[in-house]
Amino acid sequence: MKPSDPQPDAAVWTTQDWRAFAAQTADAIGGALECREDGYSEIAAPAAAPAADGAGHKSEARGRRRFGGAKQNEVVLAEEPPAPFACGAPPAAFLEMLLGSLAAHAPIQLRPADQPEAVHDLSPGLFAAYQVDGGAMHLAGCRLTDRPLVRVTRPAAGDQVEHAFFLPDGQPLAEAQIAELGLDRLAPSSSASYPHETVAAPALERIATRLGARVVAVVWVKHAECRLRFEIGDAWHDLPLAGWARSLGPAPVACPVTGRETFHLTALEDGTIVAAEEVGVCQQTRKRELARDMARCSVTGQTVLAELCDECPVSGLPTLATEFDECSGCGERVSRATLLRGECAACRNLLKVSDIDEVIAELLGRYPKLRRWGRWRAAQTGEVAIVEGRRLLGRLRLTVGIDTGDVRRAAIARGPWGQVRALTDAERGEQLG
Ligand SMILES: [Zn+2]
Repeated sequence: MKPSDPQPDAAVWTTQDWRAFAAQTADAIGGALECREDGYSEIAAPAAAPAADGAGHKSEARGRRRFGGAKQNEVVLAEEPPAPFACGAPPAAFLEMLLGSLAAHAPIQLRPADQPEAVHDLSPGLFAAYQVDGGAMHLAGCRLTDRPLVRVTRPAAGDQVEHAFFLPDGQPLAEAQIAELGLDRLAPSSSASYPHETVAAPALERIATRLGARVVAVVWVKHAECRLRFEIGDAWHDLPLAGWARSLGPAPVACPVTGRETFHLTALEDGTIVAAEEVGVCQQTRKRELARDMARCSVTGQTVLAELCDECPVSGLPTLATEFDECSGCGERVSRATLLRGECAACRNLLKVSDIDEVIAELLGRYPKLRRWGRWRAAQTGEVAIVEGRRLLGRLRLTVGIDTGDVRRAAIARGPWGQVRALTDAERGEQLG
């Protein structure tokens, strides 16, 4: 079986008191039903009596249909809630006759009693869910259309009837859909969008027969297709919404820039509409920017536009360009946060390495005079290797580009604790050759 094949046995049945059903039917055919010992008949409604749906439909607008039989004395069922009444015929027999007669005619037209009938019924609940900073929202377009469902009905135990609802293609509605659409409270409708013959097709008649039921009603349910427009300044962003009008609720808006879902929109400095949760204020420029374009400065702790920052080669952290200083140990431009007594964390944490370490070996090969130095120590940043050689009265510190292997800077210090000072060109030539 294909997934789209109708599965009538999955139909969900809802019960209704037979009086309420008779009253609803009477209302839908624009008159009253009269119950007799041998059947029932329709009685014309009082002239100019409005229909019970309150939507301005007049009973007169509907076609009159007679179900045969002369008018007799009994009880009129035209009001809701129905007053208890006695019926000459047993309810079950009356229902059987009523269903049979209804099925022989065109289905009655119903609609959910409490569904939105106009666009303005939709908007208050929709708009309340959204917040638009410095802007406004409105419906840029909204169309309500009637979509048909078919209700089949059969007698049930306890003087009740039971109904099941189907899409025109024969798919039964589930319990949740019945509740969502408000199908437990129906009112007469005259707003059929197209002939009900195309709705209650023979296939549905066959399904109803198989279930011991009759096709007696078409239920017209409002479906909405809307576009919400959010406007801030000259910019706008549209959100399409579609669904059953009765259950159409607000849906999150995807941020036009980041895709984040939100109910709160705001604008950046350049007017771009974005999710408010994605926006921060740059503490340097005081401008509203996307959080993803911001960084936290490792020195000031400020949240600032990332393009105002550079990455510190020692800590790897974003740092405002104004918060860099030169390390006295390696001569590199580093974040002030990594400096202590003028030296960066890399310079302060040189580790012993052997002279067959790759960096040392390459240096010794390139500058043979360096073999006068020993007891090598080294550290590495994102850009350079810092190498220190020692001998009795001093230390030679070299800053070597990782990519090039070039010595960027050479410095010397007296003793293990002496201040490091950059070599002059002459001194550099003497040490490196
Ligand atoms: Zn350093």
